[in-house]
Amino acid sequence: AGTGKFFVGGNWKCNGTKDSISKLVSDLNAAKLEPDVDVVVAPPFVYIDQVKSSLADRVEISGQNSWVGKGGAFTGEISVEQLKDIGCKWVILGHSERRHIIGEDDKFIGKKAAYALNGGLGVIACIGELLEEREAGKTFDVCFQQLKAYADSVPSWDNIVIAYEPVWAIGTGKVATPQQAQEVHAALRDWLRKNVSGEIASKTRIIYGGSVNGGNSAELAKQEDIDGFLVGGASLKGPEFAIIVNSVT
Ligand code: PEP
Repeated sequence: AGTGKFFVGGNWKCNGTKDSISKLVSDLNAAKLEPDVDVVVAPPFVYIDQVKSSLADRVEISGQNSWVGKGGAFTGEISVEQLKDIGCKWVILGHSERRHIIGEDDKFIGKKAAYALNGGLGVIACIGELLEEREAGKTFDVCFQQLKAYADSVPSWDNIVIAYEPVWAIGTGKVATPQQAQEVHAALRDWLRKNVSGEIASKTRIIYGGSVNGGNSAELAKQEDIDGFLVGGASLKGPEFAIIVNSVT
């Protein structure tokens, strides 16, 4: 872990029911979470209100996506203003499932990030390469290009956490090795240093996502440039998520 406060996000994706989420919230409320870690969960939109009213305030709430501009005639979308209104502090943008399944591109994601930051939300800005891109030796090129799209549009870096999530590691059980993750995190920090500023490079948290679980998080957390995690599958189990949150100590 680096010098910034450790940050662990749980991305619940399109999972859960009122009942299963009520159980997950009570498990999280019962868990001992290290105080020196920022903990955020991203429930499906329809359950945010339920989670907000039942989960301890110590855990902040994130949307899993937001609309690119002010709300209005955009059927099926959720606006930044609505996320703020319901008590969200964060939004996940650029997740690989939105890039590669829904088809969002770098420019659109950059615009979303700018709108969300201007509207007062923190942004968990996801990036990451596909397996074929890694195998073709293009990991850095792809990640830098995705990072540049954010850099080109955001008003400030104060409220951004970068999530490096290699697509081949998401939901596959194939976690990046600590060395593979560290190598990319260090390169991303170096890119920020050269293209944004030394100050932003050292203070921006870069978290890792991709098959993180209670068994592999401690080794990953030891890496110098890994400042936390974005967790999918394992965030649906309260006790295991707590182990991941506490893995920095
Ligand atoms: C994610 O979707 O952000 C993620 C990292 O998923 P998983 O932990 O299930 O690989």
